Amino acid sequence: MSRSFKLDILAADKYFFSGDCEEIIFSSIDGSMGVLGGHEPMICCLSEGEIQFRCDGEWRRAIVSQGFLEVMPNFVKVFADSVERPEDIDLLRAQAAKERAEERLRQKLSTKQYIHTQAALKRAMARIKAAGKTYN
Ligand code: ATP
Repeated sequence: MSRSFKLDILAADKYFFSGDCEEIIFSSIDGSMGVLGGHEPMICCLSEGEIQFRCDGEWRRAIVSQGFLEVMPNFVKVFADSVERPEDIDLLRAQAAKERAEERLRQKLSTKQYIHTQAALKRAMARIKAAGKTYN
């Protein structure tokens, strides 16, 4: 049986989750990664998309934007700009955000504006994908 670890998931505007877990799966810039209890210490970049975490044998999901993770043998901390439960995602809002970002990307932008708009587009696309899974 795998060792459990304390998991905290924090966003800029909310404390999303705190509790004991057995496993977490997330997307990093190196692809999908899984962490179990007792993992060696590391700091990883978090990519936008779905996080899955198993607590008392039950898998839960969260949709996150970019951020980072602190992994230690007995705890994992996830820091993201935003986090939502898939069932709380407002699909129309995400679609509108995607259209706004796509429209902006067709215009001339500074490097900073371009990076911000790309990030907004990725957030919107991650939310649309998650909302689609919920409603299917
Ligand atoms: P928008 O332009 O629609 O505000 P955004 O990507 O700029 O989208 P964020 O700054 O990432 O929004 O998030 C602001 C807050 O709104 C956060 O609490 C986030 O969880 C929430 N949020 C953003 N978009 C959605 C959505 N489509 N459904 C539910 N909550 C959302």
